[in-house]
Amino acid sequence: MTPTPAPRCVACTAPGVVPAPAPWWRCPRCGLLFADPLDAPGAVDYARAYARAYASGEGLRVERARARLFAQALATLAPFGSRRCLDVGCGMGVFVRFAAALGWTAIGVDHAIAPTDGPGFQLVEGRFPDRIPAEADGPFALVTFFNSLTYVDDPIAVLAAAHARLEPGGLVIIRVPNAAMHRRVARVAAALRGTRAGAWLAAATVRHPRSYTPRALREALTLAGFDDVRVVASPPVPGDPYGTGATALGLVKIAVEAVMRAAGVLSAGRLVWSLSLEARARRARC
Ligand SMILES: [Zn+2]
Repeated sequence: MTPTPAPRCVACTAPGVVPAPAPWWRCPRCGLLFADPLDAPGAVDYARAYARAYASGEGLRVERARARLFAQALATLAPFGSRRCLDVGCGMGVFVRFAAALGWTAIGVDHAIAPTDGPGFQLVEGRFPDRIPAEADGPFALVTFFNSLTYVDDPIAVLAAAHARLEPGGLVIIRVPNAAMHRRVARVAAALRGTRAGAWLAAATVRHPRSYTPRALREALTLAGFDDVRVVASPPVPGDPYGTGATALGLVKIAVEAVMRAAGVLSAGRLVWSLSLEARARRARC
């Protein structure tokens, strides 16, 4: 059987990714962990999983748990430019409604939602960037990806499409799990397998088809044409919004986060040590 040729890294385009194992690959250069292809046999069918989560109410529970993150993301960001924002992978629209309440004209696009609208906001069905209705075509002052860039086939192309839909000076905000930290926690969980602490730590780790490190996010944003790229720690969503059943998961996340923050401080800020990352970048003004 002919071995599958190694793909290039989908975040930094470097060759030389290593199997981790099939269908997963890891980029030694930027640390991205990714499935190739995105819909490899045996991989989770995320389109179907999210449609189910939206229908069951689980999606709304997760989004409501993220309300504090949404508030923090917009706390120091008064509407600017055209005051139009686009939330890609908007789910049930909690962030879109929140942004509308703060004065943004907010559009949310998602492949698995029923179109709806309200004061200052609109949710439209579509798959960014290729299959979207005119409402989601921009230009926008702000484009957001809250835990949705983890499911796209080609992150650089998707970010370039977001860049193209931003006004000059426009801002993109991205939140994703931090693959570098989840790998570390998963190793500790594996070492503690069979214990309650190991089960709790395992419940706190995730692996998505596109699992970013700080460097992978920076590389993808830069290759997509963005300027002023910054990646910082993002606080964890409180509690157990995904219903893992690990009763102490909220406390475990707080403890893990505290240890990581301390390590980040000891590194004098050189390392972004957190279970989740937030990236911000701008489209140049000219
Ligand atoms: Zn890479």
